[in-house]
Amino acid sequence: MKLYSTNHQSPTVSLREAVMNGLAPDGGLYMPEELKRLPEEFFKKLESLSFQEIAFEVAWSLMKEEMAEKDLKTIVDEAINFDAPLVPLSDTLSVLELFHGPTLAFKDFGARFMARLMAHFLKDSKKELTILVATSGDTGSAVASGFFGIPGVRVILLYPSGKVSEIQEKQLTTMGGNVTALEVKGVFDDCQRMVKEAFLDKELKSKLSLSSANSINIGRLIPQSFYYFYAYAQARLRTTRELIFSVPSGNFGNLTAGLIAKRMGLPVTRFIAACNANDVVPQYLKTGRFEPKPSKKTMSNAMDVGNPSNFARMRELYDSSKTMRQDIWSRSFSDAETEAAMKEVQEKYHYILEPHGAVGYLGAQAFLKENPSDVSAIILETAHPAKFLNVPLPVELQVCRNRPKKSVLISSEFRDLKNFLLKN
Ligand SMILES: *Cc1c(COP(=O)(O)O)cnc(C)c1O
Repeated sequence: MKLYSTNHQSPTVSLREAVMNGLAPDGGLYMPEELKRLPEEFFKKLESLSFQEIAFEVAWSLMKEEMAEKDLKTIVDEAINFDAPLVPLSDTLSVLELFHGPTLAFKDFGARFMARLMAHFLKDSKKELTILVATSGDTGSAVASGFFGIPGVRVILLYPSGKVSEIQEKQLTTMGGNVTALEVKGVFDDCQRMVKEAFLDKELKSKLSLSSANSINIGRLIPQSFYYFYAYAQARLRTTRELIFSVPSGNFGNLTAGLIAKRMGLPVTRFIAACNANDVVPQYLKTGRFEPKPSKKTMSNAMDVGNPSNFARMRELYDSSKTMRQDIWSRSFSDAETEAAMKEVQEKYHYILEPHGAVGYLGAQAFLKENPSDVSAIILETAHPAKFLNVPLPVELQVCRNRPKKSVLISSEFRDLKNFLLKN
């Protein structure tokens, strides 16, 4: 698999290089040069395959030149060791529960897979690797959990002070071991900017072996395509209707992984990019102009992104907003609408959605209202309700709640981050 930079100024690289570097030297994101369609036989037998078997087939199709079959199998089996059940709410509406991993958010898929991929590529290396992650909550804990205890790797998390939920902060700051949390006096976009600057900084580059673990890393994106195939397999057992996926989106990694699955042959009629008040992509699809803005704080805080990084990849897959519109339909929703949607789903279907999933629900509803059609809608539920709502905490989260918070407070100046990295 060869990967190119979305800025088109850097040479193409192998998967190993793309995963270890995170960002391309020209500041672009890595994209696979070719996304081959999976063979017809794969789609014919999909319903009879397990999640891990599906994941392996998809991964193998992309990565077969990169490693031995048995190594990839081990990585897939260890990373994808929890389910992603498709739960029907009605005949035409279902929820893909992506929160059954160790940190109860869909980011476990990407983080666990990428950590094992990096560990595989690092097997013979002597230098310690520093993983730098900007997080608005869930990324950080998923990445920290994915890398926890992996020898030769330290994880530095940057999170915006006071902008993540109490339980998210506990998850980020209580891991210890090879994980350090930096509490940044700023917003998520500051954290993301600081991480980007670190990768472009010559001195840091020469002194440290730095890598990213945000959704900009292709190693995190690839595994997120697996569950689209698995959702399709589960849906086919119940319905012959065409499928649409509604994806609550912030940095658009989740959605981009869906677009990749579609390029690999997955029959998806439409993707709904469901956003909160941070509406840069819905605006782009409406006007054809991409205008990043400062992020706005909402109750679905993991999607409070004003300059979605994966948009660069989405743009590579389409030649204009017009062609993108054929695959993606997008709307933005307010907190009041989100609140009402959670209530509606609980009353109508006796199902508890947390705010991110509720935005996904709103996206599906709005699409079907404007485009009445005989499709079956799959809403991606990206986090466990206990992470955001007052429902009983699963044991995984109870444990960290009782541990003391340990973080290092820094300003949103890049200089502060740089000093910390060089001194510690
Ligand atoms: C990260 C996250 C999102 C947004 O996913 P993107 O890939 O950044 O679009 C949505 N919901 C939850 C719970 C998240 O953690």
